[in-house]
Amino acid sequence: MIINGYTRTCGVMGNPVEHTMSPAIHNTLAEELGENLAYVPFRVPAGHVGEAVKGAFALNLLGVNVTVPYKSEVIPFLKEIDPLAETIGAVNTLVRAEGGFRGYNTDMPGLYRAMCEDGVAIEGEKMLILGAGGVARAVAILAAQKGAEEIILLNRTLEKAQKIAEEVNGLAGRQLATARETGAYASLPGDGYLAIQATNVGMFPKTEEAVIEDAAFYEKIHTGYDLIFNPAETRFMSLVKKSGGRAFNGLKMLLYQGIIAYELWTGAEVDSDLAEKAYAEMKKAIAKQSDVQ
Ligand code: NAP
Repeated sequence: MIINGYTRTCGVMGNPVEHTMSPAIHNTLAEELGENLAYVPFRVPAGHVGEAVKGAFALNLLGVNVTVPYKSEVIPFLKEIDPLAETIGAVNTLVRAEGGFRGYNTDMPGLYRAMCEDGVAIEGEKMLILGAGGVARAVAILAAQKGAEEIILLNRTLEKAQKIAEEVNGLAGRQLATARETGAYASLPGDGYLAIQATNVGMFPKTEEAVIEDAAFYEKIHTGYDLIFNPAETRFMSLVKKSGGRAFNGLKMLLYQGIIAYELWTGAEVDSDLAEKAYAEMKKAIAKQSDVQ
């Protein structure tokens, strides 16, 4: 691409940011759509988020993604916040508004778009969520909003899962979610679950790990969605498949959170052919990264 006086800049702020796949998504979209836009990583040291947001606005950046560990910390520095991001309590996309940025959460709409594309429905499903971190909490809210019949959170630290279940029940206005310690998986009633794996376990380089090993657990699952995307097939996914279920990784979620952010910044509509091109570039970027490490 040619960088000149008209080039608009977007980027991702986080710490660290060196492993980000987002430049592969956004720079591919910009190139394919013929937009004069460059996307770069911004490493922001602890304690400087407010300055970074103010500086990004003053520098006329078109848009900014926010990643770990600043998705909640960034909120007080925004001019406006989208209702979904406010409910989830995490912002990953900043869009220019009058006098400051408006914060959005595109992670959950991204996961939803990925699931729709993979033919995985939430409505009427009995859902199991493994984990009770920031992403598990957002997934539980998404599940409630999209009509899951039941939500069970399984986590190593029971209190964290209980807190999310209470929040979700408050939002839903009924007893929709419950919490269990991961070790209590054997007491799960019945089978036919859609499971979302939202812990860090199994991520590269510790690819031989899964939160639960017991085949009896995987027999209860008809579809397993691991939010991890490196490796492409996690141990959780291979255990789901071994027990006859369908399994997906988190790369499409990452792709679509980026695509939705790009659409918010530029007004472009990204069709499935273009999404496929960006997806291929992400896969190449991950392969290169795994080779280096
Ligand atoms: P987080 O807030 O740090 O939560 C981590 C969760 O993993 C907690 O529930 C934690 O349990 C559990 N955990 C960590 N180590 C464990 C272990 N050794 N054994 C059992 N449980 C363990 O992380 P997060 O931000 O929610 O992210 C969760 C996952 O989502 C990560 O794998 C991340 O890569 C993925 N993610 C994917 C995308 C995407 O676009 N595909 C986007 C964001 C995140 P405790 O509560 O007991 O500590």
